[in-house]
Amino acid sequence: MRKKLIAANWKMYKTPQQAKEFIGAFMPHAWGHTRDEIVICPPYVCIPATVEAAQGSGIAVGGQDLHWEQEGAYTGAISAHMLMAAGCTHVIIGHSERRQYFGETDDTVNRKLKRALSAGLKPIVCVGEVLQEREAGQTDDVLRRQCSVAFRDISGGDAIPVVMAYEPVWAIGTGKTATPEMAAEAHAVIRAEAAKAFGEGVSTQMRILYGGSVKPDNVKSLMSQPEIDGALVGGASLDPSSFAKIVKY
Ligand code: PEP
Repeated sequence: MRKKLIAANWKMYKTPQQAKEFIGAFMPHAWGHTRDEIVICPPYVCIPATVEAAQGSGIAVGGQDLHWEQEGAYTGAISAHMLMAAGCTHVIIGHSERRQYFGETDDTVNRKLKRALSAGLKPIVCVGEVLQEREAGQTDDVLRRQCSVAFRDISGGDAIPVVMAYEPVWAIGTGKTATPEMAAEAHAVIRAEAAKAFGEGVSTQMRILYGGSVKPDNVKSLMSQPEIDGALVGGASLDPSSFAKIVKY
């Protein structure tokens, strides 16, 4: 039985004060919520305020990215160690917006994944096809390539904390959602790649989230698919009552 994980990706929204206010409003809904793991990934400057406000609630905090090196002359970047020192337990890797706007590649995803794992951060690794690839019937090939490169040179034992997120790029921030069946099909491809790389035991336990316009009104049907182990939520995670509805689907 895989415990579902519901993660909020705040992207480049909210100041530390707004993060604090969000947690204040959201927390009453999260108290005692043990069915799912809840993770909030705010902008870096909001991490300390979010960690402090969420203390004792069971809500975990994650980074939205990290650098693959331990430290160095990488202006604007953040390390695994820095995220952990600020109180993060999780980190998103390979989000499509990082791939699209910041030159993230399958190879950098692999390097970042190795760093997160060796540092002890729980990675949430995003994969997914763009619309053109889906329309050309290339979805499975794209997912296989993204996963096989991301998983390169990582042992089954080291991969235990990995969480995958299937995020069809055409569904992110667009209001379009993959049907639960489409998502389940993609999840099966990702799980098969994980089995190849890490073995059946690890792949069976690996959680695969769905992301792409998850909202209070569609979360239930998505989460009812046995292959969907949670959600990565962008837009609808910015408002505490909307995110609370998602968590309490
Ligand atoms: C995301 O940013 O990972 C995401 C899924 O965004 P949205 O929920 O807004 O589509």
